[in-house]
Amino acid sequence: MSELSRRKFIAGTAVSAGSLALSGGLMAFKEPQHLHPTSDTDTPRAKYDIMQDVAKYRKLDSHVHVNLASTDAEVQKKYAESLIDYSRRLQVQKLVLSNPVTRLINGVPDGSPEAFIRNNNIVLAVMKLYPEVLTGSFTFNPVHAKESMDEIKRCVDQGMTNAKVYYQTKINDPSYYPIVEKMIDLKMIIHCHAEVQIGVGGYRMKYNGFKPKNVSIPEDFVDIAKRYPEAMFQYAHIGGGGDWEYMCKALKNSPNVYVDTSGSNNEEHLVDFAVAHLGEDRVLFGSDNCYYQSVGKILASNLTETQKRKIFFENFNNILRKGGRNVD
Ligand SMILES: [Zn+2]
Repeated sequence: MSELSRRKFIAGTAVSAGSLALSGGLMAFKEPQHLHPTSDTDTPRAKYDIMQDVAKYRKLDSHVHVNLASTDAEVQKKYAESLIDYSRRLQVQKLVLSNPVTRLINGVPDGSPEAFIRNNNIVLAVMKLYPEVLTGSFTFNPVHAKESMDEIKRCVDQGMTNAKVYYQTKINDPSYYPIVEKMIDLKMIIHCHAEVQIGVGGYRMKYNGFKPKNVSIPEDFVDIAKRYPEAMFQYAHIGGGGDWEYMCKALKNSPNVYVDTSGSNNEEHLVDFAVAHLGEDRVLFGSDNCYYQSVGKILASNLTETQKRKIFFENFNNILRKGGRNVD
């Protein structure tokens, strides 16, 4: 503002304040009519139809689970009905289901082949209930090299689209190298659970909170992504409760690492911040079974229509396309 316009502005303000005083101050203000609509359709706000906004975007859920707490087929069947209900209500064309082994035995994640084979069998069974909507990710533990390779083949042959791994082994552990090479051949993304906590008093507590020591943190992704620039990695749930600003900043220069927006933590600007730091092509929609909020946080962002379309659908579809597994 120039000095001249500043003076004009101040003068103008003084005039307004003066007229206010003359006319009896704030009490004399008549509230504009539009604040008191005679019907719900009178206001611009009422014209926003959230379900119409939901329907505008095709969606691909890149992070969603079967029931993680049960091995019972009937429980899974009932849960699958709720997944289908979600897909219909919020118009999600495809759900990429996973079932990582989350069970701890004396504080150590169960990393046995029996456990990952059992969990994959659950996903395969659920996928078959609604094959037009449900697809799946296979899990494994790379320290069991042969069993993991056999399992990948078995699951890919039955239509699974990518990998989902948990905190059995760090994503940049050397045992992953042959698996990552296999995933490059298959043109599939590796989705890995990830965390990073907010420090207290300036100290970033990477391993507190009684977390298993092999939980993958952003620096582990940066490391493996640099070693294998042709591979693709999905950093799980930036809305999962960790320090998402730190995650996005740390992954900024790793172009083959994508993040998904899932999780039950929905601070304002999370989605905008991710796009600002990672670009509009590396952010993927996911729910992590937090259905309404996961869609709502993208609708509520300040992104453009094109960016929202990319995040809800196109970015993940393009990843699937590399291996000919795209939705259409
Ligand atoms: Zn999850």
